Amino acid sequence: MFFSNGSGKGHKRSLTGFTPTEIKAIDNSIPLKAREAWQKYGTKEFESAEELEARFIDHVETTLARSMYNCDNLAAYQSLSSSVRDKLILRWNKTQQLHTVKEVKRVYYFSLEFLMGRALDNAIINLEIKDLCNKSTNELGFRLEDLIETEPDAGLGNGGLGRLAACFVDSLSTGNYPGWGYGLRYNYGIFAQKIVDGYQVEAPDYWLKFGNPWEIPRTEIQYPVDFYGYVSTEKDEKTGALYKQWHGGERVLAVAYDFPVPGYKTSNVNNLRLWSSQPTTEFDFQKFNQGDYTNSVSQQQRAESITAVLYPNDNFYQGKELRLKQQYFWVAASLHDIVRRFLKTKKPFSQLPDYVSIQLNDTHPTIAIVELQRILVDLQKVDWHEAWDIVTRTFGYTNHTVMSEALEKWPLELFANLLPRHLEIIYQVNFEFLQDVERKFPTERDLLTRVSLIEESSPKNIRMAHLAIIGSHRVNGVAELHSELIKTTIFKDFVKIYGSERFTNVTNGITPRRWLKQANPKLSELIASKLGGYDYLTKLEKLQELQNFLEDSEFKKAWVEVKKYNKVRLTDMIKTLTGIEVNPNSMFDIQVKRIHEYKRQQLNIFGVIWRYLQIKATPKEERADKWPAKVCIIGGKAAPGYYAAKKIIKLVNAVSDVVNSDPDVGDILKVVFIPDYNVSKAETICPASDISQHISTAGTEASGTSNMKFVLNGGLIIGTVDGANVEITREIGEDQIFLFGNLSEDVEELRHEHNMGRLTIPDALNQVFDAIESGTFGNYEEYRTLVENIKFHGDYYLVSDDFESYLEAQRTIDKEYKDQDNWTRKSIISVANMGFFSSDRCIEEYADNIWNIEPIKEQV
Ligand SMILES: *Cc1c(COP(=O)(O)O)cnc(C)c1O
Repeated sequence: MFFSNGSGKGHKRSLTGFTPTEIKAIDNSIPLKAREAWQKYGTKEFESAEELEARFIDHVETTLARSMYNCDNLAAYQSLSSSVRDKLILRWNKTQQLHTVKEVKRVYYFSLEFLMGRALDNAIINLEIKDLCNKSTNELGFRLEDLIETEPDAGLGNGGLGRLAACFVDSLSTGNYPGWGYGLRYNYGIFAQKIVDGYQVEAPDYWLKFGNPWEIPRTEIQYPVDFYGYVSTEKDEKTGALYKQWHGGERVLAVAYDFPVPGYKTSNVNNLRLWSSQPTTEFDFQKFNQGDYTNSVSQQQRAESITAVLYPNDNFYQGKELRLKQQYFWVAASLHDIVRRFLKTKKPFSQLPDYVSIQLNDTHPTIAIVELQRILVDLQKVDWHEAWDIVTRTFGYTNHTVMSEALEKWPLELFANLLPRHLEIIYQVNFEFLQDVERKFPTERDLLTRVSLIEESSPKNIRMAHLAIIGSHRVNGVAELHSELIKTTIFKDFVKIYGSERFTNVTNGITPRRWLKQANPKLSELIASKLGGYDYLTKLEKLQELQNFLEDSEFKKAWVEVKKYNKVRLTDMIKTLTGIEVNPNSMFDIQVKRIHEYKRQQLNIFGVIWRYLQIKATPKEERADKWPAKVCIIGGKAAPGYYAAKKIIKLVNAVSDVVNSDPDVGDILKVVFIPDYNVSKAETICPASDISQHISTAGTEASGTSNMKFVLNGGLIIGTVDGANVEITREIGEDQIFLFGNLSEDVEELRHEHNMGRLTIPDALNQVFDAIESGTFGNYEEYRTLVENIKFHGDYYLVSDDFESYLEAQRTIDKEYKDQDNWTRKSIISVANMGFFSSDRCIEEYADNIWNIEPIKEQV
C-alpha cells in the first residue's frame, strides 16, 4: 500500500528506477502509527533473549499452530529456526535492495549441487547470537544442541564439488560480494546409506518431510521451460530479416525457492535460489477429449520428476536423458531470471558482462552458454557475433577433473531430440570455431578433429568441456597441479589455440566458520584466547601468530586436551552408530570421502589387513610396544551402480568384524566403517583425527578439500603428491606431512608397463591377497574383483606400485606418534600455516581475476 502513490505517476512497482532518496521518501510515507507499532511489536531484529523468546512462542502458536505444552524438540527446532530466519530475511531484503539500487555487478554461481548441511547452527554463528539462543532455549526448557541435532542435512550434493559450492556462497556473503547461487531444489538429496550385513543399502533421503524453515517459496517467480519440439524459420515483419524460432513440445514450470545465505560479522545476506519443477496449469484438452484423463495426469507427474532426485554419481558421467533435462531446466530458469533482472536496468545487452558474471561449476551447466546465445539472437534479435562476444565475456568455467569417465559427452541423437534449436546453435558455433582454427593452423587436420565440439564417433557425441572452454573467457582448475595438468593433457590443444591466458588456477578453500568455529568450538575458542578474539575467522592468515606459542606448555596442554575431547566426541558417535567401542587414547586414523577406486580406499584397507597380519605375527608380549594402538576409521558413500566401490565397503566391514572380535588384538587395532557420511557427521569427524588419509593415485584428485578440513583442525595427514596436498605441503612444511607414492608424471608410463604385462605385486601385498583369498574375511567371491583388478587387469590405480611406500609412510607415522610432544608441535605448526586455504581467499581470487566484482559495503 505504500507504493500506491506511484500508480498515476509512471512509477514502477519494482525497486529498479527508484533512487535512494525516493526509497527514503516512500519509507517515510508509512503512517507514524504503523511505524511505531512495527517498532514495538513487529521488529524481527530481536536483540534480547526476551524478544527471541517472544518470537519463538509466536512461531509455536501461530506458524506451527501448536501450544508450548506440546512443543517437542522438532517443533522447537522449527520455531527457533523461523525466529532466526526472520532476522536474516530483513537483512536479506536490505542487501538485495542495496545491490539493486546501486546497480552493482553480481556473480551467479551455477552449480547442480550445493551440499549445505545444516543451516541453524551456521546462521546462529554468523549472526553471533549463540549466547542469546542458548539462554532463550534454556529458559524455554530446551537444550540448543538438541535442537541443532534435530535438523536434517540439506544433502543436495554428492561430495567435494557440492560442498565447495556451499563454502563459496558462505564466503561470498562474508566478503560482502553481491553473489547468488543458482541450483535445483531436489525433493530427494543424496541417499541415506545403511549398512546391512556389511553391504551398502541405499534409502531415499526425503529431507523435506517436516517442511523446511530455511526456504522461502517464491510462488510468484515462475518461468516456463520447454523441451523437444521443432525449429521454424520466421521473417521479422519490420526488417524482413530471417530468424529461427524454437517451438517446444513439452512445457514445465520452474518455481523459485530462496535460501538466505548469511555472512559472518556482516549484515550482508546473499541468496541461494533453487528451482523446483511443476506442471503447467495448461490442460491437455486433446488427451482429455480422447477420454485419456489418466494420461494427461501422468504428463503432469512427468514435470515434477525433473527435480525429484539428485543423481548420486561423484566423478562419473552417466548419459541419462532426465539428467540433461535437469541441466537445461535449471539453466534456462536461471538465465531468464538473470536477463529479466538485467532488462529492468534498461541497459543495452552489450553491457550485460558489466553487470553479470556467471561461473560454471564443472560442465553441468554448459548449455547455459548456448541458451544465452539463443536468448540474445532468437529472442532479443542481437547480431550473432555481437551476441557471442557478450556470451564469452559473461561466462567462466571451472574444471573439476581430468578423468575421462567423468567428462560429459552427450549423445547427439538424445540432445537433438530434447533441444533441437540448441544443437543448431552448437553446430554454428563449432563451424565458426573450426574455421578460425583452420585459418590459424592450416596444416593441422588432426587438430580440427581433436578440438571439435562434436566427437566423430558412432554414435556421435557433444563434448561439453570443449563447449565450456570456447564459450568462456576464463577456464580454471582447482589446485596448482590440477590446473597445470589440464593445460598439458586434456586441454592442451586449446592452450595452443587461445594461448595460456585463458587458463588459470584458483586453489580451492573451505569456510573456517563451519569447518573450525562450528565443527570445533573448543579449538576455535582456544585459538581466540591467544589471538585476541575471533578476527582470525575472516582473516585466516592470522593463525600464523600461533607459532608464538610453540614453547607455551600450558597452551600445548590445552591443545592436546581439545583433541582428546574431540576424539571422545567421535568415540561416542561411533558407539551410537555402530555399537563398536573404541579407546579414545588410541591413534585415530581416518579416511572419509566418497568411495572411489581413484581415492584408493582399497589401498587403505589392504594396509589395515597387512597391519593385522603383522600384529598377529608379533609375539604377544612385544605387540603393545611395537604397534601403537590405532583405530582405523573409514566412511563414505558408493554410487549405487558402482560395483567395485560397493565391494570395498563390504571388505572394510568384513575386516572390521574379524579384527574387532579377535581377542588376540584387543585395543591394538580396531576398524570402523562409519555409515552415512555427510556434512554434519564430517563436522564431528574432522576435528577428531590424529592422522587422515588423502591417498589418491597421483594426478586424479583435482584438489580435495577434506585434506584442508582435517589439517585446519590439527590433524596430520598422509597423502600422495596430488591435488591440494602439494600446496598444503608448501604452506605447512614437509616435516608436517607424510607423503608417499609415485608422482603424476610417472603414472602414464606405469600404466603402460602394466598393460604390457609387466606388473610386480610386492610381497606384503601378496600376503594380504593370500589372506583374502583364503577366506579370512568371508567368501573370496565377494572380493575377487578388488584383487583381480590389480593382479590381472592392469592395476589402473597403481595400488601395487605405491603399496610399499605407503607402508613405509605408515611405519614413520607409528614412530613419530610415540613422541607426543613433537606430534603436538607439528599439529600447531600445521594449523598456524593453513590461512591460505580459507574459501575467503579463494573467492577473492575469483572476484579479482575472473568475475571483476567488488565487495559492496552497506553505508548506514
Ligand atoms: C568435504 C567433504 C567432501 C570432500 O571430501 P574429499 O576428501 O575432498 O573428497 C565430501 N563429502 C563431505 C560430506 C564433505 O564434507
